[in-house]
Amino acid sequence: MNCFPVPYPDELIYSLVARAGIRSAITSSKQLLDEVFGDRKVIATIDLPSHLSAISELLVNTGKFDVSQLVYEHTMFPIYAPFIDESVRVRAMSRMKGFSRGSVHLMLGAPASIVKISDNFRICPACVEEQKQKYGESYWSRLWFLPSLPYCHKHGILSQSTTSYHDNRHTYHVCGRIQCQPFLCNENNKTEQQFVYLAKKAQEVMFLPIQESPTQNQWSLFYNNLAHDFGYGKGNKQVAHEKIADLVVNKIVIPELAIDSNRDTNWLRTIFRRHRKAFSYLQHLIVWSAFIPDMTVSEIINEVKSEDKVTVSLQKNHVDLDSKSSKVKRNKWKSLISTTPINIARTLSGGGALYAWLYRNDRDWLLAFNSANKSQSALRQKKVDWSARDRSLTKQLLRVVDQFDGVIESPRRTKNFLLKQLEGYGSISKKLNLLPLLSFTLNRYQESVFEFQARRLAMTVIVNLRAGDRKSRWQLMRSASLPKERILPIIDDLLDWVVTGSN
Ligand SMILES: [Zn+2]
Repeated sequence: MNCFPVPYPDELIYSLVARAGIRSAITSSKQLLDEVFGDRKVIATIDLPSHLSAISELLVNTGKFDVSQLVYEHTMFPIYAPFIDESVRVRAMSRMKGFSRGSVHLMLGAPASIVKISDNFRICPACVEEQKQKYGESYWSRLWFLPSLPYCHKHGILSQSTTSYHDNRHTYHVCGRIQCQPFLCNENNKTEQQFVYLAKKAQEVMFLPIQESPTQNQWSLFYNNLAHDFGYGKGNKQVAHEKIADLVVNKIVIPELAIDSNRDTNWLRTIFRRHRKAFSYLQHLIVWSAFIPDMTVSEIINEVKSEDKVTVSLQKNHVDLDSKSSKVKRNKWKSLISTTPINIARTLSGGGALYAWLYRNDRDWLLAFNSANKSQSALRQKKVDWSARDRSLTKQLLRVVDQFDGVIESPRRTKNFLLKQLEGYGSISKKLNLLPLLSFTLNRYQESVFEFQARRLAMTVIVNLRAGDRKSRWQLMRSASLPKERILPIIDDLLDWVVTGSN
């Protein structure tokens, strides 16, 4: 096939084939399958397509897009990959290369999972606009087809079509030709935040580099340790399921994942037990959002993969740490806490991950350090009455301005210069947005370039008069450091007046 299109970022293979049809003006589905795959029986699959070696072949001239790249960047495979067994991951990828006859879906547990890929087309209208601006056409992005998560982390709830792509098993529809209507959904502020979190993290999962999957045993250990690390353990190995449910339940904003807390086999309980089967990405993400919201997905996966590398009976805190990395992390935390209260530092991006790392690897030090610094940060957090502060600082500023009024000398009285005359300059210079009166007064009384040039001229004239000197125009200009090219017209006039007046 000639002029086969090159995939756009995150474009689904399905979308690519649809565009190929348009580009080559092929209207018959069977003919398109023939041209692209050399096989008329291929089923048009949105999420986990097969026959990818044929696509890779068509893109050979680009020097990119081997089968693994296609799988990881242009299908929904990565949303399953970290959570399934390595052997399944490898087999599924090889099926996607050639024939699969639906087996990939089965292997990845997609049909049995409680979170389901949508059968209907979905779009984010704002992303579609961005695509059109950037590329002159729209395409199906894989980020719109996250199972049970119809949400764009940049623009919100997606729109959905009433047509299913299963309607015709061999037809590829282009994005621009399918009508979609907004999902009806009554999200409030809190669920919206959670949707944004889930969509962002799902994207991080989709963007993970190609790598081996952790084992189910590593996942089991990871969740058990997570519960114990955060005080949700019971005895040595058990976890307190009820307490965990209290923490997690309000993070469950996906109806399919609602749990019956009384049932011993609800998914939240089983994810904290020995993993016998893979859980869906959303179940993992929901637990992470409650326990470790600030850790990046790749930090979490690394953590999981390190699980059974350490003897289980060893207490995590006492693991002989790579003392250098621990020291670096301690110093980073110290410097963060020197400017930010602990509870706020934990919510900062980077701060939270640092906290989680130290909590898991260097807990004794972290807890000791935090409790020693808590009192200080409590003091810092004490509410400042900014409007009272604003009034008192403004009064102080007016006194300063008053004092300078009769003083001819001093550098240019810029805002910063005036601020530096105030008590507590360091702490207020960055808080001017909270001090409207002070800002206004600073703007009013700061010295303009003209005022400063005039003052320099006056300073020079006064010195000369005292010394009984008479200077020419250019001598005055030089003594007052008034550069010829930058002198303002009004100062120029003033100079004339000084020279003729004093003559
Ligand atoms: Zn969007």
